[in-house]
This record gives sequence, C-alpha cells and structure tokens, in this order.
Amino acid sequence: APKTARSTEPATSTMVLERPTLATLEARNISAWFGDHQVLDRVSLEMPAGVITSLIGPSGCGKSTFLRILNRMHELVPSASLAGEVLIDGVDIYDVERKLVDARKSIGMVFQKPNPFPAMSIYDNVLAGLKLTGTRADRDRRDYLVESCLTKAGLWKEVKDRLRAPGGGLSGGQQQRLCIARSLAVTPQVLLMDEPCSALDPTSTRVIEETMLELAQDVTIVIVTHNMQQAQRVSTQCAFFLASQGTPGAIVEHGDTEAMFSEPVDERTFDYVNGRF
Ligand code: ADP
Ligand code: MG
Repeated sequence: APKTARSTEPATSTMVLERPTLATLEARNISAWFGDHQVLDRVSLEMPAGVITSLIGPSGCGKSTFLRILNRMHELVPSASLAGEVLIDGVDIYDVERKLVDARKSIGMVFQKPNPFPAMSIYDNVLAGLKLTGTRADRDRRDYLVESCLTKAGLWKEVKDRLRAPGGGLSGGQQQRLCIARSLAVTPQVLLMDEPCSALDPTSTRVIEETMLELAQDVTIVIVTHNMQQAQRVSTQCAFFLASQGTPGAIVEHGDTEAMFSEPVDERTFDYVNGRF
C-alpha cells in the first residue's frame, strides 16, 4: 500500500498507482570506452533516494555516457565497453541473471530533444513503455495510468480534452512533459534526464522544474544540466565532471549543491560554476 496519497493524483480514480519504493542508485568505479578511446575513468557516485542529483561539466566530459551506463544503453553501441558496477538498492543492474527489460522498467529516461512518437496519440504515447516492457493493463488501468502520469507530469489539464490528438502536435515544452509522463507509466524507481530543458523556453523550463521537484518525492532523479541556476534550483547534490587535456572524464568534486556553488573545494570547480570555462 502507498505511504501517502498525493494531491496531484486524480481524485476521481478509485484505483491506486503502486508507488515504487524510493531507491538509491550507486555507480562504483565506472570506466567507459568507445573502441580504444577511454571516456570515463573510475567514476563513483552515490545518488540517494528521493533527491535530485545534478551532473555538471563541460561538453564532452562524459556526462551523457555516464547517464546511459546507468540505464544500460551504453552497451547498445557496438564499439562501447565498460567496467564497474551500477547498483539500485545494492542490486547490480548489470548482473547477468538480470534481464535487460527489468533494469529498463526500474529506470526511466528523458532526453534533451523531446521525442514523443509524433503520429501516435497522446494517450498511446503515455502507454508506449508498457508494450516495450511487456506490461499488461486492462482498459480501466490504462485510462488510470494515462490520467495519473499526465497529472504527475503537469500536463493533464492541458490535454485531457484531446487525448486522441497526435503527440507531435504539442508545443516543445508539452512534448517534453509527455515524454516525462511516458517514462512514469512503468513506475520507475529512477528517472534520468539528459539536459531535459535545454531545447525549451524559460516558461516550459520552469514548469518542468516544478514537475521534477514534485516527482522527486517518489522517484530518484539524476539530471544533466548546463544551466547552473537550474542545478541550484532543483538539486540537493551536484557532481562536477571534467575531461582535461585528453584525459578521460572523471568527477573532480561532488557534494551538497549549495556548498559546491558557494565554496567549491577545487579551483577548477570554482572556475566552472563561475562561468570561467
Ligand atoms: P557530454 O555528455 O559530457 O557532452 P558525452 O558522454 O556525450 O559527453 O561524450 C564523452 C566522449 O565520448 C566524447 O569524447 C564523445 O566524442 C565520445 N562519444 C560519445 N558517444 C560516442 C559514440 N557513440 N561513439 C564514439 N564516441 C562517442
Ligand atoms: Mg551530453
């Protein structure tokens, strides 16, 4: 049974969306290569349950690669290899016994460019992940999932009268919230967001930030952002990645967001958060 009912849940429904238990995500000694080219070097980071972690750092330092490793997407690139462990509440998602689909179900992902299926209806877009993960749901359950996920993503009121319209007809910010709703339909424990607002206007960005802060009560969130104000607005902890002079990407410094911005320990962090490179 859920611990608390949230006000954002549709009051009309009598069904209860199973709430995933908050999970801690942990990367241990992650190194990554594309062919011979090493792009990450022994990255370890604990991303606690129920908070937002920001990954910051210059382009090319391996933030997206790190995020894809957390979701087992890195292994889809033929030349890619990796070392290290990724644990959700102590269970390795790369365990050979664990099916890829199980790992995917517990980890949602949202990308920089909103990527709903453009010709597919808003309704079907939300449910697309169920098919991919082989999750069955009857009609009532599907209706409930669509309403509750769109509500959580802050989009329900705007689209409830046109659920059969194509996802591609929405504005950029709405499309991104549709993608968030789609990622929530499989009730993930972890939500990974790779620069989710960098293609959006400030108003949509604000709406998505509010949505993220709401969601963080239920889901462990990791976000890559180049927006330092955004990192400070949303995240409890921050990790600064750097790949200097041809060395692979590594974490220079991580910790409490406020402390990292007000009194960074490393000079390179200071320079980066103050826009000096
Ligand atoms: P960031 O997200 O921090 O900008 P990326 O993780 O995208 O960094 O890239 C890290 C490094 O890995 C870069 O040098 C990039 O060129 C390289 N890289 C990323 N994806 C691939 C790929 N599919 N094949 C080969 N190299 C890649
Ligand atoms: Mg990137």
